Amino acid sequence: MSEQRTEGDLRNTGMALKHDRTWDYELDRIVEAVEERNAEKVGLQFPEGLKRRAPHVADDLRDLLPEGVRVLISGQPCYGACDLDTYMMRRTDVFVHFGHSPMKDSEKIIYVPLFSNVEVEPIMEEALDELEVGDVGLVTTAQHMNKFDEMREWLEEREFTVHTRRGDDRLTHEGQVLGCNYASADIDADQVLYVGGGKFHPLGLAMEHPDKTVVIADPVNNVVTVADTEKFLKQRYGAVHRAMDAETWGVVFCTKIGQGRWDVANDIVENNENAYLLTMDEVTPDRLTQFGFDAYVNTGCPRITTDDGPQFKQPMLTPGEYEIAIGEKPLDELSFDTFHGTW
Ligand code: SF4
Repeated sequence: MSEQRTEGDLRNTGMALKHDRTWDYELDRIVEAVEERNAEKVGLQFPEGLKRRAPHVADDLRDLLPEGVRVLISGQPCYGACDLDTYMMRRTDVFVHFGHSPMKDSEKIIYVPLFSNVEVEPIMEEALDELEVGDVGLVTTAQHMNKFDEMREWLEEREFTVHTRRGDDRLTHEGQVLGCNYASADIDADQVLYVGGGKFHPLGLAMEHPDKTVVIADPVNNVVTVADTEKFLKQRYGAVHRAMDAETWGVVFCTKIGQGRWDVANDIVENNENAYLLTMDEVTPDRLTQFGFDAYVNTGCPRITTDDGPQFKQPMLTPGEYEIAIGEKPLDELSFDTFHGTW
């Protein structure tokens, strides 16, 4: 194969790179892997929010890669590292998964986490008003992991004792949380600082660790808040109450590679003759409405149940909420649904 070209070489020759500079797509690392493996086909998978960037990244890769190497783009929905396009993976020599950190070791897959370049210190400064100097847990998402050491040092310089850990093997990094896993916050501190975008992760964290105060420093929307689970709990209690009269249940088993909980789904249908197991990849309100069950249990990604729950016509519960609805567990045992381990 010809001598490898880098992004820098292209810029020096005056060629305009088409991909946006907000994220680091690590094109040189991809090109290197293609050369090393003598690859002929490269598959690219992007999360939903970045799919519109895919053609530009593919164009730049075509310019960088040796002639004849084909670049394919996955059109499958993608929301996490649990969600790999296995069809494309089997048919390409190099498979690149953008936007998430590795959930499973595989020589075939190149994970490009797309670290954010946003500064975290200004929002951490504002978060000081909500924190007490002393012990503090520190967590963040894959997108800000590149700044994790900086965050820790910044807190230590301000006399905090920072507690961090790597939760379990579903997580790549120390201090990392996922929408379905908060084991990195199992630390010895009554307060946790979450640095990252959105409220879903810190809400799940606060539900999973009700004994801790969760302070949210969101550098993307530039806002500091303290996680409040009340509204979220009300929504979940409402869904459980509505499902209590259900006579028929649809139990969703998700076929995405990192979301399958067969034993959980199977256990429900084996013990309830009015429950039917549904295998699905993408779980949407439209798809479920077709079946006409009174209520549903989702054993796939918990975010679908909790984020999208209100959009489903019939109540959609997590496996734990189902146990409450059928009277196997008391209402006060309602907790957040989490995933552990890989596949
Ligand atoms: S199961 Fe859901 S929350 Fe967990 S990694 Fe996958 S998409 Fe994210």
